Amino acid sequence: MPAPGELIMVEPKRPKPPIHWSDLSVEERKARVIDLGLPGFRADQISRQWYGRLSDKPETWTDIPAELRGELQATLFPELMSSIKSLDCDNGTTVKQVWKLFDGVLVESVLMRYPERVTMCISSQAGCGMNCPFCATGQGGLTRNLSTAEIVEQVLAGARDLANGKIAGGVGRVNNLVFMGMGEPMANYNNVMNAIRRLTDDPPAGLGMSARGITVSTVGLVPRIRQLAEEGLPLTLAISLHAPDDELRDTLVPINTRFKVSEVLDAAWYYAETTGRRVSIEYALIKDINDQGWRADLLGELLAGHLVHVNLIPLNPTPGSKWTASRPEDEREFVRRLRNHGVPATVRDTRGREIDGACGQLAASAK
Ligand code: SAH
Repeated sequence: MPAPGELIMVEPKRPKPPIHWSDLSVEERKARVIDLGLPGFRADQISRQWYGRLSDKPETWTDIPAELRGELQATLFPELMSSIKSLDCDNGTTVKQVWKLFDGVLVESVLMRYPERVTMCISSQAGCGMNCPFCATGQGGLTRNLSTAEIVEQVLAGARDLANGKIAGGVGRVNNLVFMGMGEPMANYNNVMNAIRRLTDDPPAGLGMSARGITVSTVGLVPRIRQLAEEGLPLTLAISLHAPDDELRDTLVPINTRFKVSEVLDAAWYYAETTGRRVSIEYALIKDINDQGWRADLLGELLAGHLVHVNLIPLNPTPGSKWTASRPEDEREFVRRLRNHGVPATVRDTRGREIDGACGQLAASAK
């Protein structure tokens, strides 16, 4: 029986993706390598190729016996995803990839290069079960959870493109990661956490990214937020609040009927206290829906005095949406009122609109 308050998330039954090196822990990798008849120390050599040199061609791994490279590729490095579409804008510094997974399911990731950093926005599920009415992904429902490796490999694909100079601006690396693509990361908790471990473990175990550069965004699955706080990782937590009152939030973020604004914020403050990390509050400004001055004041009152920052996102209208972004003057007034309460707030840049790569537009399965 699930514990009280625990979410029962039923994932549709589907075939599981093939096992990949990025699914395995360091110990499991060693065991697999020994199964192939290789000494255990080869596992670290393989990981150095994959995560250190970002080489995805086992046939070129000259430190591995030539006759074993093919088998290694077939058994531990199956092709998990192929890019069926790559779209770019902003002179090639914003690139969206549409990935086809082993079972034909489509997911998307976006790479955004800024002068001083590269951020990737990745997916944690194919589709999403949270059903937020303003979000394109939410309209199609949940297809399935992504495996650990399907999450990790979205990042490695971007890292390889940057390392090989394929992204405008020259050779680079991925600095920041946001779980703001398709899916609700806290509803695929174990695979997301395993992926984060692979991405933050130092080479040879993993990619060696800084946990401080990783943001996990959630609708507010309270038990999972508390669990995340206990992981001992300095991740950034983002809460998709979008309304300060339960009446409106029940309609914008339907899981609110299960976890109320006050419970979600309590969990957020627990996260901030436990980790010392500033929590991000995501708030999509929707014209005449959640952008009234009184809602800004109410939000300011709820957040004042906490370790928090508000990210206001101009709504990206999804096809057929009856909603649109707030008027510029209402947006400015919203920011002003939050700041009056001493709450830091900024309006997020929405890159990639032209390629349907901006917040809430990722809906590969629908195209
Ligand atoms: N399921 C997670 C992460 C994916 S969405 C979550 O909800 O947090 C990432 C962010 O984009 C969330 O804050 C989400 O509410 C926001 N978003 C979704 N659709 C949007 C849209 N059409 N316009 C602006 N922001 C949107």
